[in-house]
Amino acid sequence: MDVSKMRYFEKIESPQQRDFLCAQNNCVLCSQPLQLQHRQGPEKMSIQENAYCQSCDVKTRSKDYSIH
Ligand SMILES: [Zn+2]
Repeated sequence: MDVSKMRYFEKIESPQQRDFLCAQNNCVLCSQPLQLQHRQGPEKMSIQENAYCQSCDVKTRSKDYSIH
């Protein structure tokens, strides 16, 4: 298992990464912070990420990360 994928969201070392995550974590429409949810997939081999904006009432992102 590649644990670096799991730690990606918790361990931020460089300013570039911080800026990237900041951009990713704010709504593109209203710039409000997004509600991020990470759920383990049903087969426990993937992480599902959902980003939701309460202001716009829109789900902006849904991704599946496979854990190899
Ligand atoms: Zn928004």
